[in-house]
Amino acid sequence: MTFDSLNLIDPIRRALQTEGYTTPTPIQAEAIPIVLEGKDLLGCAQTGTGKTAAFAIPILQLLAGRQTFRKEKRTIKALILTPTRELAIQIGESFAAYGQHTGLKHTVIFGGVKQLRQTDALQNGVDILIATPGRLIDLMAQRFVSLKHLEIFVLDEADRMLDMGFVHDVRRIIAVIPPKRQSLFFSATMPPEIVKLADTILVRPEKVEVTPVSSTVDIIQQSVFYVDKDNKNYLLLHLLENKDIETALVFTRTKHGADKVVKILLKHDIKAEAIHGNKSQNARQNALNNFKEKSTRVLVATDIAARGIDVDELAYVINFEIPEIPETYVHRIGRTGRAGAKGTAYSFCDTEERGSLKDIQKLIAKVIPVIEDHPFPLSQKPGNEAPKAHNVANTNRNNRPSRPASNPSSQPKTPTGNADRGKKPWFAKRGR
Ligand code: AMP
Repeated sequence: MTFDSLNLIDPIRRALQTEGYTTPTPIQAEAIPIVLEGKDLLGCAQTGTGKTAAFAIPILQLLAGRQTFRKEKRTIKALILTPTRELAIQIGESFAAYGQHTGLKHTVIFGGVKQLRQTDALQNGVDILIATPGRLIDLMAQRFVSLKHLEIFVLDEADRMLDMGFVHDVRRIIAVIPPKRQSLFFSATMPPEIVKLADTILVRPEKVEVTPVSSTVDIIQQSVFYVDKDNKNYLLLHLLENKDIETALVFTRTKHGADKVVKILLKHDIKAEAIHGNKSQNARQNALNNFKEKSTRVLVATDIAARGIDVDELAYVINFEIPEIPETYVHRIGRTGRAGAKGTAYSFCDTEERGSLKDIQKLIAKVIPVIEDHPFPLSQKPGNEAPKAHNVANTNRNNRPSRPASNPSSQPKTPTGNADRGKKPWFAKRGR
């Protein structure tokens, strides 16, 4: 199937050509005709499946067809509600790309930055508004936003909205938008609360489901390294000696953990930046841009900050810590292998994280292969519950990270583990 068979208008087809898109992804092939018919849609799809274009393209087409040449100010006719700033920005970029020849205007509003630029854009008039819930409610209260003329409402990443505690805000917004509208609802997972929420928003929706969360994007090559907590830094440095890893997105559980990893990498001359909630919006955007341009090799992120990170050709995701919520694992590794590209996901699992790893394997209904041949095995071996994987990573024992920097305060602690117990640490054993 090509985009030609979707009956798209010429301005959109031209934009898709510029983007280099020829074939719709499965969610696009299914969802675009449904949305173009004006129906409500319940989409079960995670990021990386092309779901943004699946709603942006038909919305642009519908609104472009309804445009009239009139003198009065534009009114908001489509609202896309999304949980994070990064995701909002990315959706904005998609509307800019696919809508470049349509004459429609959009803007993006999110918290954490001054509101003036956003309110200026709103006052100039927009057709499409992409918003995070908090800032939207704030600007509605200040009367910068009116949703009176809304025709299309999109709730994106509904499960994440729930996780992040935004469901109350979402309900407040739904309460004030016109009941006669077209609604599109996207969620990577469909737990009962989400189904309930969808029921309150959608009317006789068509359902589209692609790559359900429980089957994890199969093209991503996943593996796990059992490693002591204190040795995770060493393992990371070791893996990064593999120059094939041009860039990697590393996940930590906490902001503090992210900063610590960045510090260690910088000490070892590996360009790294952190992206998390304590950073200003500008710092986050700069870090993301540097990573996209590959001037930063490693981006270390917490889950919330990483939501919506969309980097073409991201080949490696490293779970420095195993997430406690199994779905988070799927979201994390979904940063790679996007739109059919190849991807590799490494997970570092210490003894305490084994329960979380088990939960993940249950959710994805597969056993993640274990890489045993690496220099920092656990001091206490886990049971043989997973098959071995070989040659998945550059795990040559002679290919270890360079000697830590001379400033002792900057060094990770001496590695611990079977291989090294009772012996000198590996960096002291090297012939120098
Ligand atoms: P999304 O799931 O919306 O976050 O999109 C994932 C990635 O796939 C983004 O980088 C898009 O630019 C890309 N993408 C979306 N649709 C297509 C397509 N039909 N062909 C190629 N790439 C696409």
